[in-house]
Amino acid sequence: MWGWTLREITRAFQEGRISPTELCQRCLSLIRKTAFLNAYITVTEELAMQQATAAEQRLQRGKSFGPLDGVPIAVKDNFSTAGVETTCASNMLKGYIPPFNATVVQRLLDQGAVLVGKTNLDEFAMGSGSIDGIFGPVRNPWGYSEQYRERFARDQKLEDSNWVIAGGSSGGSAVAVASQTCFASLGSDTGGSTRNPAAHCGIVGFKSSYGLLSRHGLIPLVNSMDVPGIMTRCVDDISTVLGTLAGHDPKDSTTIQDPFEPFELPDEIDVRNLSVGIPKEYHAPGLSSEVLKTWIKAADLFENAGARVVEVSLPHTQYSIVCYHVLCTTEVASNMARFDGLEYGHRSEIESSTEALYAATRHEGFNDAVRGRILAGNYFLLKQNYDHFFVKAQKVRRLIANDFLKVFGSGIDVLLTPTTLSDAFTYHEFIKEDNRTRSAQEDIFTQSVNLAGLPAVTVPTALSERGLPLSIQFIGRAFCDKQLLTVAKWFEQQMNFPHINIQGLLNHYNELHKPHNSVGAI
Ligand code: GLN
Repeated sequence: MWGWTLREITRAFQEGRISPTELCQRCLSLIRKTAFLNAYITVTEELAMQQATAAEQRLQRGKSFGPLDGVPIAVKDNFSTAGVETTCASNMLKGYIPPFNATVVQRLLDQGAVLVGKTNLDEFAMGSGSIDGIFGPVRNPWGYSEQYRERFARDQKLEDSNWVIAGGSSGGSAVAVASQTCFASLGSDTGGSTRNPAAHCGIVGFKSSYGLLSRHGLIPLVNSMDVPGIMTRCVDDISTVLGTLAGHDPKDSTTIQDPFEPFELPDEIDVRNLSVGIPKEYHAPGLSSEVLKTWIKAADLFENAGARVVEVSLPHTQYSIVCYHVLCTTEVASNMARFDGLEYGHRSEIESSTEALYAATRHEGFNDAVRGRILAGNYFLLKQNYDHFFVKAQKVRRLIANDFLKVFGSGIDVLLTPTTLSDAFTYHEFIKEDNRTRSAQEDIFTQSVNLAGLPAVTVPTALSERGLPLSIQFIGRAFCDKQLLTVAKWFEQQMNFPHINIQGLLNHYNELHKPHNSVGAI
């Protein structure tokens, strides 16, 4: 069952090979055994069993049974979930229990999905490693895989300190899917937070066109760039989940007005009439030779299959990181202003004056990364700085979006790019100062996509020399999400990316932790 697609699960339910409650129990049991990965902040065991039981009854009564009915899913802890604590991995929201579901969560539940838990992240989704939340860092299951043990750890003492980061900020959602504790998850993507961890964890991560998915109930980071992200083990499953989620939401005025027609991707895909663009500016400094190799190989695959592969130029790429950071921090400054200790969220006990209350509340509630962004954002918004930073960044954003428009206007259907500069870091590598900077640089492949509101998807390709996932990103025209996913599916069919062996992972963990703390067989 671990390799099953969503449609295969439905078939297995219908043929009685497994029941929704059995499947839910297996996932919950695996969540307990893989707790050391720290993917989940809250496990909604009771709720999940109730939902699975309801799905089982629908199945027994022969009620129409959709592709998500009875399917265990997980949701990043920055989506509001009615009655379930929603923390954004921050002291500011710890203990907050929303009275409503985010629209995308509600739509999943309406289709019978079973919520097994809320997943870990960087505080308020600010970060690229999933190590900066109050619940501690997320660990990448590939760091415990047989492949990693055999290749990288072969030369090193087998120590737990070699653990590998999951990428971020939706690292918990990526690990939840990669470690097979659920079959689909929601992340959020403001500058790459779905695609980056998906790439590092060897799964498929999709960011839709801005406006296709509702942001209502997604606690905002950057309203003009945020989109809910979808993470699954294969491209077909992305389209199944997208079909459930997409379309107009009266509670989010930026969603499309037209109804969205769910689609199934064809099995036989012909790429002969396809034009694939390779942006020359994406040969970024720091690009590892392995990623370069997988990128060239991908381009060759398309060429050999008869597609037209051409080099294109996105000349303003070099400004995307700076532009993103000015716009991100200014929107953060404005979004975070609501957390003042008076309306909701954490409230400090230091109440000597209103100002002291604000300051203490925000000091206690936010980590350094969040406070740093609030500070930078307010600086850019000062009267004397506004034109120089904020307005200029808006203009640069337009130039970046125009670069894409021009390329797509010239007949290119999709862009083929790396998702990350290299495979994932170990924790010790990641926390070194220059690697922190490097990990922010990595967003060069993902952030401009959010600045332009385009759809993009990352697909795993192969394992690196040290046994960690590598991947490729496809960027599509706005609202051509279906075409993008079709191309990604064709590409996925050409790859033979391995599933992680869960029993092997647990064995490796046990070896590191014997005799105490070991976990049983699955
Ligand atoms: N790494 C980026 C940041 O920290 C992206 C975050 C995101 O997409 N949520 O802003």
